[in-house]
Amino acid sequence: MPKKAFQFKPPEPDIEINRPHEQPAWKNPWNFSIVYFLVMLAFFYFFQAALTVQREEIPYSKFQEYLRAGQVAECVLGERQIYGTLKINDRQGRPKRFITVPPRDDQLAKELSAHGVKYTVRYNDNWLRDFLVGWVLPMLFIFAVWGFISRRLGTMGGNFLNIGKHKARIHASNEPGITFADVAGVDEAEQELEEVIEFLKNPQYFQRLGGRMPKGVLLVGPPGTGKTLLAKAVAGEAGVPFFSISGSEFIEMFVGVGAARVRDLFVQARQKAPCIIFIDELDAIGRQRGGPMVVGGNDEREQTLNQLLVEIDGFDASKGVVVLAATNRPEILDKALLRAGRFDRQIVVDKPDLKGRMEILKIHTRKLQLAPDVDLELIARRTPGLVGADLANLANEAAILAARRRREAVTTADFEEAIERIIAGPEKKHNAMGKEEKHRVAYHEAGHTLVAVSVPTAEPVHKVSIIPRGIGALGYTLQLPVREKFLATREELEDQIAILLGGRVAEELAFGDVSTGAQNDLERATEIARRMVCEYGMSPELGPRTFGKKTVSPFLGSVVAEERNFSDETAERIDAEVSRLITAAHRRVRKIIGERRPVLDRLTAALEKREVLSGDEVAEIIAAAADSGPGGEPAAEN
Ligand code: ADP
Ligand code: MG
Ligand code: ZN
Repeated sequence: MPKKAFQFKPPEPDIEINRPHEQPAWKNPWNFSIVYFLVMLAFFYFFQAALTVQREEIPYSKFQEYLRAGQVAECVLGERQIYGTLKINDRQGRPKRFITVPPRDDQLAKELSAHGVKYTVRYNDNWLRDFLVGWVLPMLFIFAVWGFISRRLGTMGGNFLNIGKHKARIHASNEPGITFADVAGVDEAEQELEEVIEFLKNPQYFQRLGGRMPKGVLLVGPPGTGKTLLAKAVAGEAGVPFFSISGSEFIEMFVGVGAARVRDLFVQARQKAPCIIFIDELDAIGRQRGGPMVVGGNDEREQTLNQLLVEIDGFDASKGVVVLAATNRPEILDKALLRAGRFDRQIVVDKPDLKGRMEILKIHTRKLQLAPDVDLELIARRTPGLVGADLANLANEAAILAARRRREAVTTADFEEAIERIIAGPEKKHNAMGKEEKHRVAYHEAGHTLVAVSVPTAEPVHKVSIIPRGIGALGYTLQLPVREKFLATREELEDQIAILLGGRVAEELAFGDVSTGAQNDLERATEIARRMVCEYGMSPELGPRTFGKKTVSPFLGSVVAEERNFSDETAERIDAEVSRLITAAHRRVRKIIGERRPVLDRLTAALEKREVLSGDEVAEIIAAAADSGPGGEPAAEN
């Protein structure tokens, strides 16, 4: 097999290397095309036959017999043939059609007239039309179908004709120029990777000291925390080539291709050592083998995974090839991958803390023109839980908003709006919410706000709005943490439930009737109550123990498996406890709002008028309500 030499062209970040591979004949794309072509050709002839009228070819002498017997109904005299119908019926009861090739016969016309046959002479047969209808149109049709199919296959991974060619992307090490300067908020991970960089820079030296490098380093962490970025930065820092492939790219249409790609990747990498092989989204191929989780594509995945294990075992780490991989689902990885000598070193790339977020924001606002009032620390404070990718997105959104508003620089207001867009979705300005519904939503949000400012542990209200945003949110109350929290006490959880019930209770008190608007609030409140009982052991009735066994994906937070390990009787008691918690919270919220009803009304009125209230405005309204009238006594009005 001819091998195309590896070409390393620095100006292009991505170089695709395609090498022909030995593989079963049926998998060869060209063979596949030929089969396709033959099928189409057969189809085409069928098409032709269907279009062409079936005529029986008869000898000219026979035609003359028919003619003399007066059995020819009508006919067409062509340049080279005569065709027409007889007065005899065929088996299906239709007039028999015939075709015959005549000799030069000048008497024919006369003879036809003599026997009273209707005839037409068509010397210049419309060959052009026949050609178009009979050949060109079907051909066009075939090519259209072909094009459609290849495009469909194309989106399914790889171009139709490229299926057999394996690609591994090669990133020129210093071309994208990503280094640790582009990554922030993951200092521990950077420190751990420092060693890998040292090794890649000088594998021999490292060896002489007797150091053994891990072959595989696995970066684990939630999506968007910068795992891919870190891997590129390691290559950039070490100045070595970076072979990157994503787990999902391995999974191809035909069995065996994934494994061949793995082989290919390692062959290329060995030639270029020292270098980094980066397998992104390792979980796509590295799932537990024989697991029940995947439907279809299992064999292919397992073959690919086996090949990967073989390659990792087979190469000599001292040559300076390091395999980095990333995943956000370490719990589903095959145990064989994590064994010693494979991905035995795991580095956690976690969500950034306050300082980390600030530094990430610094990186992503480097190229922006920031107004002097922008305080990145404040923005970082307002974005707990957001990861690097969100923050990059945030900076970008803010810049777009500033440009849309024709500003010279990006201001705090742009960032504020961008944060809300990312957290709650974009504003829906043209919402057809009627006056009455708006009135109800205003009461609902005022209810949340009032409870939030009344309960002891709540975080300060930052903003209340009744402008609908995103999917399904008609209004929202935004609270902001003063500092980052890692634990929640029982009191805090109870207060959270109370705040969630605030909207519903405000509706009850103001309208005497409730709406569907509280559905999500109730769901979340119930979930908190259930977890208090089942997971945090916070129910005095059931005691400090847990109920049910849940396997939760550590980074995605989704429940992988749930197992019930208690009796039906206990289940009833759990339900009763959850209900008790919610009912108690409900009673408490009715009391809170009932006692401060005038404040609720004022908040609602202000919300209806202005649509959005800032935290300061909320505080003002509450202070004003306390001044006027007898300090928010109950029953100022019903
Ligand atoms: P992951 O692979 O963990 O899902 P990525 O590395 O693909 O996340 O991150 C996507 C983008 O988000 C990056 O290209 C970068 O712009 C930004 N980003 C993510 N994490 C960080 C970080 N820690 N520092 C700076 N930028 C980050
Ligand atoms: Mg990634
Ligand atoms: Zn609500």
